[in-house]
Amino acid sequence: MRYAMAIDTRKCVGCSDCVVACQTENDVPIGFCRDWVTETVDGSYPNVVIELRSERCNHCDYSPCVRCCPTGASHIEDGGIVLVTKSKCIGCGACIQSCPYEARYSHPDGYVDKCTFCIHRVRKGEKPACVAVCPTKCMYFGDLDDENSEVSTILKNRKFKALAPEAGTQPHIYYLV
Ligand code: SF4
Ligand code: SF4
Ligand code: SF4
Repeated sequence: MRYAMAIDTRKCVGCSDCVVACQTENDVPIGFCRDWVTETVDGSYPNVVIELRSERCNHCDYSPCVRCCPTGASHIEDGGIVLVTKSKCIGCGACIQSCPYEARYSHPDGYVDKCTFCIHRVRKGEKPACVAVCPTKCMYFGDLDDENSEVSTILKNRKFKALAPEAGTQPHIYYLV
């Protein structure tokens, strides 16, 4: 089992419904976020390409956030989901500094928080909240080890990229281009 997400940059309209759904589902405090939408602009008029991307923790295989955590709070669960055990987190922030994707934040209650791939929903057979609400259905989530899963199928049929591959973290969010 290896969970991953693919996001179609050609279908994303930048509505931020994924961000609102995540904040609601996961009680993310006002002023913080577990996911966000980035806009990049390439080229110059009239040949401009705008890319909208819903970003979050990449649930990396070689995760510096896990390696640098002094208490073991940051860890990798079955299925490759990178999590923080609140009760073990001392809020030192080493993981925040080590993440090349700026995917973590300090929760006001004294621990570090980030995307969990909505593991509480996934364990019940539901999709992550962001995936479930996306009005253009541009997000695909599932098991990469299952060749018939939605995410495996779309990655077999489309070109894709990951962000900052040079960081060597082996991220598991793929952007369809
Ligand atoms: Fe893009 Fe879907 Fe998020 Fe809207 S909800 S910003 S379409 S990924
Ligand atoms: Fe860790 Fe950042 Fe990778 Fe998430 S994106 S697993 S927080 S290094
Ligand atoms: Fe937020 Fe869940 Fe989507 Fe992660 S998978 S960005 S926690 S809604």
